[in-house]
Amino acid sequence: MTSNKHAFKAEVNKILDLMIHSLYSHKEIFLRELISNASDAIDKARYESLTDQSLAEGGEEWKIQLIADKEAGTLTVRDNGIGLSRDEAVEALGTIAHSGTKEFMKLLESREVKDNPELIGQFGVGFYSAFMVADQVTVVSRRAGADAKHAIVWQSDADGTYTIDDTEKATKGTDVILTLKEDAKQFLEEWELRKVVKQYSDFIEYPVVMDVTRSKPDPEDKEKSIEETVEETLNSRKAIWLKDKSEISTEEYNEFYKHVSHDFTDPARVIHYRAEGTVEFSALLYIPSKRPFDIFYQDYKVGPTLYVRRVQIMDHCEAMLPSYLRFVKGVVESADLPLNVSREILQDNRTVSVIKKNLTKKVLETLAEMKKEDAEAYGNFYEQFGRVLKEGIHHDFERRETIAELLLFESTKTEPGKKTTLAEYLERMPADQKEIYYITGTDRASAEASPYLEVFKEKGIEVLIMTDDFDDIIISGLGTYKEKEFQSAIKGDLDLDKQDKEEKKKEFGDLLELMKEELKDLVAEVRISGRLKDSAVCLVAGEHDLDPKMVKMFQAMGQ
Ligand code: ADP
Ligand code: MG
Repeated sequence: MTSNKHAFKAEVNKILDLMIHSLYSHKEIFLRELISNASDAIDKARYESLTDQSLAEGGEEWKIQLIADKEAGTLTVRDNGIGLSRDEAVEALGTIAHSGTKEFMKLLESREVKDNPELIGQFGVGFYSAFMVADQVTVVSRRAGADAKHAIVWQSDADGTYTIDDTEKATKGTDVILTLKEDAKQFLEEWELRKVVKQYSDFIEYPVVMDVTRSKPDPEDKEKSIEETVEETLNSRKAIWLKDKSEISTEEYNEFYKHVSHDFTDPARVIHYRAEGTVEFSALLYIPSKRPFDIFYQDYKVGPTLYVRRVQIMDHCEAMLPSYLRFVKGVVESADLPLNVSREILQDNRTVSVIKKNLTKKVLETLAEMKKEDAEAYGNFYEQFGRVLKEGIHHDFERRETIAELLLFESTKTEPGKKTTLAEYLERMPADQKEIYYITGTDRASAEASPYLEVFKEKGIEVLIMTDDFDDIIISGLGTYKEKEFQSAIKGDLDLDKQDKEEKKKEFGDLLELMKEELKDLVAEVRISGRLKDSAVCLVAGEHDLDPKMVKMFQAMGQ
């Protein structure tokens, strides 16, 4: 091995393997991914050159160029954006940047990904999709502002290794050169490139250009025609979020979603509106249909892409959406913010908090609407993102009642796999029932097998089944729903059977005393219970004790 040869990280090989062998459909998306990277690179150069003029390097027009060379069998995607230094190339094109590699590998090998290879889109692996159509990929790049001599050439045949060498490059930016596979030669054809750009990258802000040859009448001899090569822009470059709703097709909405989210699947819902008033802004937000694998990771990026007067300021503006709505993707553009906003400024900017409030309201309203209009779609949404949304009960005190309306639970009265809302539970509740009963458990079957449920079963009382590990915290955070208290089926004294119990207490008083004495180091109290039917005894937690499952969770966390 020569010194400039590097091995890919294991997860990259795994991704490449999936890309090349499992993703057969829609190979043309490689172009969307490369154009999207080129556009990101120009965004960065443009943004950085606002404060450092030298990075613009004389200020030629920002653009993305497609160069098809039929003789060589190569397609080049060229940009004049920020470029890559050697270190950046090693990091960006040899690893997959995120935490939790082990879990990530497990996920890659899971059935879910094997059956839905499109899921790999979310992993931030766009660049590697080039290998779906190319036997060899070469990247020639120079960082904006660096000397022409300090450029690099990166190359790989997807055989587990890549090389990286020094080279010279007069212009800043990156050339991605694909040596196309035999069965991908159509991507050298003008009409094919035109079609793919139109379909997937029409809204890209910068011109995507290509040299096309046209014939025109020869001015010398009208009978003849001459060939002329002109640079043509293939995309319409309209910022889709600024367009009128009526001008946008579902396909366009979906394509733009894939651009901002890196997801390969269509979104579940589109939220597109323009707010006018004290603060003016346009928002195009999406509710995805699949949960990204890293939504519970620490470094998961929250918030929409922020534009100010058509300039992308940051790709995730976390000050614009609460963390419990972090599944929402999209773009917000406002002219009411300065171009040079920093994250620090955004944290306590009044305009930003007005926008955040508005977006939060809109997303919660959309979910409520979805629940009302299409229970199945909402059920799917909840399956994917319910756990995240639920965090809002804990973190957004002001809106906890609105969020409570959006919760779904299984219960002893729902069919397996079906869920109920709290409102529906209340509707079914007999007039004399005062509390909302719930039981926690790792899954429905084990919760239903609990002896604590015996009395509820006998009396036909519905009990909500909560299977998420933090449900107990969520429910105590919520406290009540429509003035009804939540009561754990495993905790404290239940209101059921009071009278019956008084009589039994007299009858068994001596036995209770004896048991209390014998067990005094082990339990706080011994009581007659109205809740057991088939079992002789059971242990219950005190009213203010933590749920036994929570105790276990805290123990596991070492607390
Ligand atoms: P993502 O775009 O989601 O970050 P990709 O796999 O598409 O993931 O790209 C990986 C990284 O490679 C990018 O984050 C960027 O740092 C770098 N990169 C790819 N293409 C370019 C380019 N044309 N110019 C500069 N950097 C690029
Ligand atoms: Mg990308």
